[in-house]
Amino acid sequence: MDQSKPNCDLCALPVEIPDFTLNTKHGLKRFCCEGCLGIYRLLHEDELVAEIYCPSPQVPDADLGS
Ligand SMILES: [Zn+2]
Repeated sequence: MDQSKPNCDLCALPVEIPDFTLNTKHGLKRFCCEGCLGIYRLLHEDELVAEIYCPSPQVPDADLGS
């Protein structure tokens, strides 16, 4: 698997800055720039989910028994 650089989900250019992301029904989309992000958001408005993306969900302290 090539994990080097993701490609922009709009224009397919390599994503240099990992700041432009959108959370959609189809997963997290990455964009090379704010322009691509904005266009994608306009085109897929109905597919967006809450912008709060939490990559590390809280794990309940369930197995601390000792
Ligand atoms: Zn782009």
